[in-house]
Amino acid sequence: MKTALITGGTKGIGKAVALEFLKQGYEVVLNYHSDERSALATQDEFNMLGYCPVLLRADVSDELQVRQMFKEFFGIYEKLDVLVNNAGISLVRVIQDTAACDWDKIFNVNVKGVFLCSKAVVDRMIGNGGGSIINVSSIWGEVGASCEVAYSASKGAVIAFTKALSKELAPSKVRVNCVSPGVIDTEMNSHLTGDEMQGLIEQIPAGRIGYPEDVAKACLYLAEADYVTGEVLSVGGGFGK
Ligand code: NAP
Repeated sequence: MKTALITGGTKGIGKAVALEFLKQGYEVVLNYHSDERSALATQDEFNMLGYCPVLLRADVSDELQVRQMFKEFFGIYEKLDVLVNNAGISLVRVIQDTAACDWDKIFNVNVKGVFLCSKAVVDRMIGNGGGSIINVSSIWGEVGASCEVAYSASKGAVIAFTKALSKELAPSKVRVNCVSPGVIDTEMNSHLTGDEMQGLIEQIPAGRIGYPEDVAKACLYLAEADYVTGEVLSVGGGFGK
């Protein structure tokens, strides 16, 4: 039996990743942070499909909460095969209006969260003979987005983190990769007007917005691809290439 923990796993991309892994027979733990109602609704939805994922609440940017979450995880399961560092927040703001505290918040969740969760599992993965860490970056971390300097920089940092850690852990059979989604239909993009969304779709060679399930398939591939590490897999229908 394989296990997976997905941060931010109760909505949007994380929820689709969780379902994909559940369908493949993984035991799945869903982390969430602030939205307990959605978390419980997602758990119910999965239960109705015959799956029993465990829910664990933790703010991934808080070291104590992260440690506690993995203590609970390893109280239930002996090993973790796949960690998906998916939890993230965005900020659409010109640099003049981006406060230092906005910058810190974005980096604390999007970068420090990836660091803390990875650090918390590395020894256990090595001890169990290997594992897979999958980080969710963004196309904006590759090419940069106007009015999203803090978000783009944080996702660029996730890519550099992925490449560096993959080299460090490859000899121990722990693979580290990331997915780089384009425009995906989730709450994160709910601020976009219809016209703004249409404008974005016109720039996507595939001619459509991405769905969380598109990213989930890429995560499953990275989880299972034994000889792939240090990669950035774009999932954006050719957007930004
Ligand atoms: P979403 O629907 O807004 O979901 C974000 C998830 O992250 C929620 O489950 C949320 O949990 C969790 N989260 C936020 N802060 C957290 C914290 N401090 N600790 C633990 N969990 C936290 O967003 P999404 O679109 O699915 O995004 C998922 C990932 O994909 C993010 O890393 C995002 O940057 C990346 N991404 C998204 C797109 C896109 O177009 N949607 C494109 C590229 C990359 P609670 O609600 O419980 O707080």
